Amino acid sequence: MTKDEVLNRVLKSATVSTLPSIASKLISITSNEETSSSDIANLILKDASLSTKILKIANSAFYSFPYKISTVHQAISSIGINSIRSLVLSFSFLSMKNNNKKDLFDYEKFWEQSLSTAVAAKLIMARIGTKNPEEIFIAGLLQDIGELILARSFPEQYHQVLSCVSNGEQDIIKLEQEIIGADHTFIGYEITTNWNFPNGLKIPILYHHCPETYKGNDKKLKTAINVIYLSLLIKNIMYSNKPREYHQKFLNDSKKMLGFSDDVTSKILDNVSSEINQTASFFELNIKNQKSIEEILHEANVALSIINLSYEQMNKELIATKIQLQKISADLAEKNKRLEKLAHIDGLTQVYNHRYFQSYLEKEISRSARRKETLCLILADVDHFKYFNDSYGHQVGDFILKELCTLMSKALRDYDLLARYGGEEFAIILVATTQQKALVVAEKLRETIAMHSFIHNDKAYTVTVSFGIAEIKAAVDTFSKNELISFADKALFESKKNGRNRVTIYTPKKSWFG
Ligand code: GH3
Ligand code: MG
Ligand code: MG
Repeated sequence: MTKDEVLNRVLKSATVSTLPSIASKLISITSNEETSSSDIANLILKDASLSTKILKIANSAFYSFPYKISTVHQAISSIGINSIRSLVLSFSFLSMKNNNKKDLFDYEKFWEQSLSTAVAAKLIMARIGTKNPEEIFIAGLLQDIGELILARSFPEQYHQVLSCVSNGEQDIIKLEQEIIGADHTFIGYEITTNWNFPNGLKIPILYHHCPETYKGNDKKLKTAINVIYLSLLIKNIMYSNKPREYHQKFLNDSKKMLGFSDDVTSKILDNVSSEINQTASFFELNIKNQKSIEEILHEANVALSIINLSYEQMNKELIATKIQLQKISADLAEKNKRLEKLAHIDGLTQVYNHRYFQSYLEKEISRSARRKETLCLILADVDHFKYFNDSYGHQVGDFILKELCTLMSKALRDYDLLARYGGEEFAIILVATTQQKALVVAEKLRETIAMHSFIHNDKAYTVTVSFGIAEIKAAVDTFSKNELISFADKALFESKKNGRNRVTIYTPKKSWFG
């Protein structure tokens, strides 16, 4: 199709009615010079929801008036006819949604991006010091209106255009011309001419992709074209897949076209995303929190640094990361082991604690049963320990307990388990050991302790310990863990009774309480 054929089809089709009715009435009355602000107010008042929206935004931070605006008339005199017109147009366009479910064009995405462009245009214009940055807002909002019109008249072809763009092809104008026959700047310009839009709005639409081709002398128009072009670059930083390129282009072109310093451009870029989020809420548009430009560029830089790695580099980095991860998990496992061990260890004596003793004994009794082995339990209790504490103080008592454990640990085999049963009482589990062998072990312990000089602060102390032994032939005996402990305890009591510093083996036949 030729350009004109496309235009004819667009104009003839229902697309012309695309313009929301309130917007078209507003455009026609404002193009008449005799129209007063009450004519505009009356038009707006016919639409209750529009009136509410106008009052809401007039009282918002979008304008930040120091007083409350309570009527549409007051809004018009405060904001000005031109700005009110822009606002009404913005509201009407932003409410344009999909016609039907089969519509391939994503209206929400389109208006989100258009609103972002409008906000960017307003921020750029505010830096030039123009009195009415709202005028440029509507020009920014509608700069791509041609896309929406083309998508309505040629849905399938336009879908094809957008697929090519999302697949990385950059030149949307060329694609539109090739696939449809006319591009969105031309269609946007023609359709807004048909809608009687003023030059300040429709000329920037025509030139926003190629501002250098505008040859007119109107300075104000030239500025508007440049601002709209630059706002498109900001939109592309935010929504295209080449944010770094568009960022560089924006820095260069804003300097060249508007003489902006680095300071000015960075202020605009710093503010744009929060301004978009805020403006979207004023216009009741649902935008998921727009990322800041800084964040977008940072992500793009990280992505680039990964892409730029050679295969070997990437491999090296991966290996380095893997090694680091392995080291971290080995450290963690080590730490966990230490923590687990700490939970099993008695703080004073550094031998196993009561809880661990209980669970270990339980496990070892079952294991002995499976292996048909005999297991021995020795209970040991320091003789007259109360006397030590009372005579020399608790610190000496503590020292004795620690030293005692060191002595016993040294005398025992690696696979014997020494635990603090409580206070000055200890338990020793001897696996695969009969009571005769346990007797030898206990005797050795008893003697080693009794012979030992416990030296604390240059003073020597002697300590004796009494022992009780009980065995369980796990495959034969049917008594429980607790019974085994009580048998050893009874044997220990017997040692105490018979004068201390001795070892007794529990014998069931004996009457212990007789
Ligand atoms: P026996 O020969 O009958 O066992 O007499 P004993 O004095 O050793 O027995 P008793 O049970 O009357 O006293 C035990 C003492 O052990 C009492 C308690 O203060 C002391 N004791 C228990 N745990 C600790 C400890 O961690 N540190 C110190 N210093 N003393 C402890
Ligand atoms: Mg005791
Ligand atoms: Mg004691």
